[in-house]
Amino acid sequence: MSIALHGIGIGMSRTIAIGAASVIQNNSPEIQAGSVTDSQIEGEIARLHAAVEHTRQHLKQIKSDIASHTATDIVAFIDTHLLMLEDSVLIEPPVELIRQQGLSAEWALQLHYQCLVKTFDEIDDPYLRTRKDDVNHVITQIQKHLLGQADVMLEPGQQAGQIVVGSDLSPADIILLFKQGISGLVIEHGGPVSHSAILARSLGIPAVVGVHHATRLLHNHDVLIIDADNNTVVSQPDKASLEYFRKRALKQKSRLKALKNLRHKTSTTKDKKAVCLQANIELQSDLKAVLKNSAEGVGLYRTEFLYMNHSGIPDENEHFEHYLSIVKTLKGLPLTLRTLDLGADKQNKGNSSAGDERRCINPALGLRAVRLCLQEPELFLPQLRAILRVALHGPVKIMIPMLSCLDEVNCIRKIIRQTRRQMQQQGIACAEHIELGGMIEVPAAALSADAFASQLDFLSIGTNDLIQYTLAVDRMDDEVNYLYTALHPAVLQLIQKVIDAGKRHQVPVSMCGEMAGNPRYTRLLLLMGLQTFSMQSGSLLAVKEVIRNTSLQKLQSYKSALHKLDSVRSAEKLLLKINQQ
Ligand code: PEP
Ligand code: MG
Repeated sequence: MSIALHGIGIGMSRTIAIGAASVIQNNSPEIQAGSVTDSQIEGEIARLHAAVEHTRQHLKQIKSDIASHTATDIVAFIDTHLLMLEDSVLIEPPVELIRQQGLSAEWALQLHYQCLVKTFDEIDDPYLRTRKDDVNHVITQIQKHLLGQADVMLEPGQQAGQIVVGSDLSPADIILLFKQGISGLVIEHGGPVSHSAILARSLGIPAVVGVHHATRLLHNHDVLIIDADNNTVVSQPDKASLEYFRKRALKQKSRLKALKNLRHKTSTTKDKKAVCLQANIELQSDLKAVLKNSAEGVGLYRTEFLYMNHSGIPDENEHFEHYLSIVKTLKGLPLTLRTLDLGADKQNKGNSSAGDERRCINPALGLRAVRLCLQEPELFLPQLRAILRVALHGPVKIMIPMLSCLDEVNCIRKIIRQTRRQMQQQGIACAEHIELGGMIEVPAAALSADAFASQLDFLSIGTNDLIQYTLAVDRMDDEVNYLYTALHPAVLQLIQKVIDAGKRHQVPVSMCGEMAGNPRYTRLLLLMGLQTFSMQSGSLLAVKEVIRNTSLQKLQSYKSALHKLDSVRSAEKLLLKINQQ
């Protein structure tokens, strides 16, 4: 019998896969409480260290196997895990538990993991919250080595073309499976910004994540279809569906080939209006894809990763060296540095002067991003000084996240002035002028867009947060994800307000949330008057293709319908019409 399961579809380019299911059960080892005798303690600690070393060697092996032919951001996932293995925060507490309580190495790791999970659950930012997955994956790997368990491996000779169904898979697992030639992934847990999703996207593997009970409902050798466009997995399809999806997959393949030809073509509409396409980056390693896909600069650099991969607070020179190398790689293309977007509960231990005792009642609405920067200058000032220095070396802009009121802009301007003066007094060369922009991702800021446009050099719409705050829907919460949509008329009205305010004040407006990188929305956003889009590099060509096939003039006939939208359904209908034009 044919069944359809729903989740969240991942796929920038390839979204359809057809293959036989390979279900991975219990990828995480079952850890029982265990103890050792006093005389065994030192041996147990040595066993733990040996397992850590095995894990390190294993990850290095995976990294060296993939480095030559894979996108560098994928390598970065492995690097993150290698860095974690170096971190005393991960290994020392279990060593202490073994030493003081005589626990087995596996159990000590497990208890420490449970402790870390509690801390991570209080993190507000969805991306950074997924760092919990990293800790889980690294600890699971060590535990597997302790228990002598093998890697995820498919049955020999049957790997190519299989669709792997798993509860949760680590980046290392996914890379291993990718190398075995799998054609798709169905994962029970995670959302659109979980690591499995990001990695699947980077590797171009069609995937659906957040498919609850998939490992129970799907069986080895079942014929599966992944339709990531429609967030669906179909098991045991009938002949007609199979035929339909085979045709769609073939069409998609030839389209992807054609997309590559757009790399060096201009991003202009049929009626010759230029649209600026920029890239979002998180890691330095993302730059390769930025250049390969001819982005016109970086519209969003999420700098918080520098803080997250650090055991303390990065100092001014670390910031400077890092930014300088990015500026050099970009060779004159603009770099928009978003100042750190961490929250009070999102910091590593060493990062908060206020210590760990501070708890946000609701972190999403608490001390984060610009609020934190204003409250904790020791976090913000080294970054700001580095930005002012690096701006002498290339076109660098500052972008402030999570603005909600104009006072924040005034305070930031004042801090920039004071910092510049202080640096000049210290004889440190820094930029006399730097463009200051703000992210509009809080409804209050969108409603006050005119005021922000009058005070800032540019605005960038962060739809990921704007949607979550407008609709009161946590963007990471599976349970309410069905309500999370860019097509809610309230969201569209706020976006329109920001674009219009930018026009009135002649201030450039871009969009850097996920909506900007989804080709489904490209025409709608063009109709709304958006001229600059910033997105993951992998989406640039698909969006460019839509732009090149669009006549702005023809789109105008949908303007009055756009203003009359009163429901998600009516917006979907309009989108369909616009996209069929
Ligand atoms: C956004 O909110 O749209 C955005 C780009 O910021 P982030 O996803 O980093 O919160
Ligand atoms: Mg945001």
